[in-house]
Amino acid sequence: SDILELDGISKTYGKDGPAPVPVLRDLSLSVARGEVVALVAPSGAGKSTLLHIAGLLDTADSGRVLLNARDMSGQGDRVRTEARRRELGFVYQFHHLLPEFSAAENIVLPQLANGISAAAAQARASDLLARVGLEHRAAHRPAQLSGGEQQRVAFCRALANGPALLLADEPTGNLDPATSDKVFGVLMALVRETGLAALIATHNLDLAARMDRIVRLGE
Ligand code: ADP
Ligand code: ADP
Repeated sequence: SDILELDGISKTYGKDGPAPVPVLRDLSLSVARGEVVALVAPSGAGKSTLLHIAGLLDTADSGRVLLNARDMSGQGDRVRTEARRRELGFVYQFHHLLPEFSAAENIVLPQLANGISAAAAQARASDLLARVGLEHRAAHRPAQLSGGEQQRVAFCRALANGPALLLADEPTGNLDPATSDKVFGVLMALVRETGLAALIATHNLDLAARMDRIVRLGE
């Protein structure tokens, strides 16, 4: 069954104002369990808008968003927030790690917010850091890490609560090509090991070709 199904999604910004910006029109897309889908689109085509709608951070004007076969479209904020915390992981172009906390603490905190015990959260953070080759960086703060290391920590944080679906917006877009290639390989290994499904927006066609399927937007 599909972990994510977008069905006939339309979105226009400033719909009732003088200068409406239509972005998505009747878009349908699904991601199966364990499937890794590349979202390839020219800049401005609505990639971020689509990820925000899929991630329950924004709502569409029409159409349905099914997460784990459950229709989230008409749900209130409490249900959407809960689903976001339990089922979804997010990664962005910039790491957005908390600067005053260590790499390990950045992975522990979202687990504590989900009611996991401190001991279990720390064990999971250590395990995730080891999987991305950063066990020796657990006590470092984000500013003490390289760009590639920061993104690897951000992947661990996104996976901290064992989501079913990872949504990523240009997760290696800030890195030089060689680092981007390496860090993407780490991400793919992590996703495959955990059986996670992912929708990953990228401009990089070489990276897109390494995913299971490519969905193009606005072309
Ligand atoms: P992408 O991620 O593919 O570059 P976005 O989803 O960020 O595209 O944006 C798609 C279009 O919608 C762009 O033309 C952008 O300027 C416009 N847009 C995005 N967010 C808003 C907003 N909050 N209000 C008005 N227009 C917006
Ligand atoms: P990567 O291959 O991940 O891009 P770099 O070659 O940029 O790594 O960095 C090499 C090493 O230097 C890394 O292990 C990183 O922890 C360390 N390092 C990078 N930037 C900083 C920094 N601003 N402060 C301290 N250590 C750093």
